[in-house]
Amino acid sequence: MSKIIVLNKRPVGRPTLDDFKFMDEEIPVPEDGEVLLKTVYVSVDPYLRGRMNDSKSYVPPFELNNPIQSGSIAEVLETKNPHFEKGTFYLGNLDWKEYQVSNGKGLTKIDDDASKLSRYLGVLGMTGLTGYLGLTEIGLPKAGETLVVSGAAGAVGTVVGQIGKIIGCKVVGITGSDEKVELLKSKFKFDDAINYKTTANLKDAIAKACHNGVDIYFDNVGGEISDAVLTNINKFARLPVCGAISMYNETKVPMGPRLQPILLTKSATMTGFIVGNYSEKFARTTKLLAIWLEEGKLTFSETIVDGFDNIPQAFLNLFDGKNEGKMIVKV
Ligand code: NDP
Repeated sequence: MSKIIVLNKRPVGRPTLDDFKFMDEEIPVPEDGEVLLKTVYVSVDPYLRGRMNDSKSYVPPFELNNPIQSGSIAEVLETKNPHFEKGTFYLGNLDWKEYQVSNGKGLTKIDDDASKLSRYLGVLGMTGLTGYLGLTEIGLPKAGETLVVSGAAGAVGTVVGQIGKIIGCKVVGITGSDEKVELLKSKFKFDDAINYKTTANLKDAIAKACHNGVDIYFDNVGGEISDAVLTNINKFARLPVCGAISMYNETKVPMGPRLQPILLTKSATMTGFIVGNYSEKFARTTKLLAIWLEEGKLTFSETIVDGFDNIPQAFLNLFDGKNEGKMIVKV
């Protein structure tokens, strides 16, 4: 039998384990043109929270009683499709199922060591692309500028900060624990980092860490953290809005400072960023990130949780900051 995870109910506020349901189904048999896939790694991502709501967005909502899907890596166990070889590994947006069949559409072959597969869900996958493209396309960083990144110790944030350093920016991260502050400064070479959970006056702490003001704010979290950064931006600042995790579980539309006067007086540009809009740059960017990894210019962290049964909990743990770098489940 194959275990599957479906959306049991739509969460109100913070999701819980009850919102997911485990079911069993027969291991499917591939027909002509199809392959049988065995899931190896599953990515859990904050954006999945939005897909659990019944609302229109840039990706359609998950259907009740249907499997959740996310970026996953799977092995070809059986093949009735001449383009797929048994024992090879593919990346795709797959159902949360131990086994599933596919006609091969949307799958990308991973030609790399088995020990490196999980990277294609993180630094060499969607979050690496997001960090690089969001920063370079919208943030337009220049050497000598000051870059602030929130959600700094996560999958996207660690890539953003390191690319900022490669370009020659001063990089300041905002994150949720002292361990992560240390990690950002030691492993990821950030110039400074701030623990938003223990800092009483975030606005002043950012001003102190960024003597010359903030030229680029890469926003992964939204809410009060971003309000504090915005009070420190420089003239012509660029603000890629990549995520707003602090607001994903809100049940009411939160009210913050009105941004127009800040953006106006600072001639600043705040731009929403969705990585999928840049798909023509994926192959080139992945190649560049792989070269930087090989050369040691870029590094990464992964939090790998063991077991298919732990996929929902690993997802919930994102909202408690229990990951360093990319949160991945090894099935
Ligand atoms: P992360 O690896 O950064 O994991 C989420 C992190 O968010 C947690 O580790 C936690 O770190 C932090 N967090 C959780 N709750 C809060 C809160 N209330 N306030 C502040 N921080 C919080 O996830 P990703 O790197 O995958 O994603 C980062 C952001 O980028 C998300 O908002 C995501 O939706 C977005 N995203 C957007 C994409 C796009 O195309 N626009 C593509 C991919 C991701 P801490 O310990 O620091 O609190």
